[in-house]
Order: sequence, then C-alpha cells, then structure tokens
Amino acid sequence: MRRIRIKQTTGTTVPGFENGNGQRVVRDTGFASESFPGQRVYHLRCRRCEFQYGANGTDILKRLCPRCQGGARGERLRDPGPSLFAEI
Ligand SMILES: [Zn+2]
Repeated sequence: MRRIRIKQTTGTTVPGFENGNGQRVVRDTGFASESFPGQRVYHLRCRRCEFQYGANGTDILKRLCPRCQGGARGERLRDPGPSLFAEI
C-alpha cells in the first residue's frame, strides 16, 4: 500500500469514494496537481457517462462531470501505464 501524505479528514480521496454527483475516485495518480499547489491529481470516473478525468483532492467532494454535468474541465490524466511504473 502506498501511504497518502495529504491530510484529509473527509476520506474523499480514498479509491472507491463517490461524491453526491456520482463521481467516483478510481485511484490516486501520484502526480502533482497543476491547478492547486500541494494537491495531487486523482483519477475520477463518472458513473453516469463513464467519462474519466483528473481532479485535485480538494475538488472531489463537489465535483461535477465535465462531460455530462457541466462541471469544470478536468485535469490532465497522465497515466504512466502499467509497464513503466510497475510496483513490486
Ligand atoms: Zn458524466
């Protein structure tokens, strides 16, 4: 298990968390957010349209889907792919 160093009391960054809008946390990408210093980018997925995008940790709770709910554009998802960053 990777340790999560960002302080969060609400648990919104835990994979599997789903906010009130049906936006679900898939995983912590480990990349720094480009829009919110000190935060990381989390991989979210919309339950309604299956759209996947990145969001910083402070954003998750109120996130709306960029595609079907008119939410703000998501952050870039930089998926390194399983072969490059494979964890032992
Ligand atoms: Zn959607």
